Amino acid sequence: MQIKCLGIESTAHTFGAGVVSFNGEDKFEILSSQKACYFEKEGIRPTLAAQHHTQKAPETIKVALKEADMKMTDIDIIAYSIGPGMTPCLIVGSTAAKILALKHKKPLVAVNHCVAHIDIAKEMTECKEAFVAVFVSGGNSQILSKTEGRYRIFGETQDIAVGNAIDKFARSVDLGFPGGPVVEKLAKDGKYIGLPYSVKGCDFSFAGIETQAERTLKTNRIEDVCYSMQEVMFSAICESAERVLGHLKLKTLVLCGGVARNKTLQEKLKIMTSERDAKVFCVPGEYAGDNGAMIAITGIKNYLKKINCFDKKDIRKTAVIPKIRIDQ
Ligand code: AMP
Ligand code: MG
Repeated sequence: MQIKCLGIESTAHTFGAGVVSFNGEDKFEILSSQKACYFEKEGIRPTLAAQHHTQKAPETIKVALKEADMKMTDIDIIAYSIGPGMTPCLIVGSTAAKILALKHKKPLVAVNHCVAHIDIAKEMTECKEAFVAVFVSGGNSQILSKTEGRYRIFGETQDIAVGNAIDKFARSVDLGFPGGPVVEKLAKDGKYIGLPYSVKGCDFSFAGIETQAERTLKTNRIEDVCYSMQEVMFSAICESAERVLGHLKLKTLVLCGGVARNKTLQEKLKIMTSERDAKVFCVPGEYAGDNGAMIAITGIKNYLKKINCFDKKDIRKTAVIPKIRIDQ
C-alpha cells in the first residue's frame, strides 16, 4: 500500500514539517523537509520556544506541502511527536496535527521522537541488518538495540546529553547556539589536555566534564579545551557502543541525532568498528537534527503496524508524553 505522510516535529528548538512517501514495499522517499529553529543565547526557554513554533507552524507546513508538490487532499496520514520533549513545545505540534487531521479527515499517528531519529538513519542509509544505535543529540545520549521488537537502552548518560553539554560549554564562552559545530571547528587546532573521563559499565556522564572544561579555560587555550572535551566525551560513547556490540554479538552500528554530524565522532566509531570487523552507518547530515521527515517515516511504520493510530472517533485520546522512554 502506497502511503504519503505529513510529519510534524516540535519537541524542543525546532518546528519541523516533512512529507514522506512509502512505496508499499520497503522504500521511504523524503519529498520535503522544512524547519523553523528557535535559538536563544541563554538556551531554550520552553514557553518562548512554543510561541515561536505557534507563529511558524502554518507557514512551515504550507512550504513543506508545496516543496513536495502536494495538497492536504494528497496526504494519507498525519504524524506528530508524542515525546520526549518540552511540554509547551510538544503541545504546539500535536495541536497542529490534530487540527489538520480533523479538518481533512485523516488518521493521526503518534510517534516517539527517539525512535524517529533511529528510523530515519536506518532508512536513509544502506543498513539492512540488526544493529546497535548510537543516538546522540541535544536532549538524549543513548546506546540502544532492538530485542523482541522493541528498542532497549543498553547504555545512556547518567546526567546531561552530550549535545547539551557541548551547548552549555559554548554558551558559557559566548560561542552561540548550537555549540556543536563551533566547538568542532575550534577543536581542529587543539591538542589534548587532561579532562575527567567517566564510563560505568555501558553508562557514561558528561556534566562533570563540562564543568571542568569551563574551569580549565582559565589556564588553557579554548582550542585545546574544545579538542579535549570532544576526545573524552566521544571516547566514552565509543567505549560503550563497543561493549554493547560485543555483548549482542552484532556487527553494525547506526549513528543518529544532531551530534551525529560531528566528523570526529564519526571517525572514532569508524576506527572502532573496523577494528572489530564491523561497520557504521551515519545518518545524512541534513536529517541528523530534529526534523519532520523522520516523524513521517516512523508515522508510516506505526500506521502499518497499527501502533498509536487514532481516527476521528478516538482522536481526543491523543496526548503528549513529555518524559516518554523509548522502551515504553
Ligand atoms: P537535535 O537535538 O537532534 O536537533 O540536535 C541538536 C544538537 O546537535 C545540538 O546540541 C547541537 O550542538 C548538536 N550538533 C549539531 N552539529 C554538531 C556538530 N557538528 N558536532 C557536535 N554537535 C553538533
Ligand atoms: Mg532530537
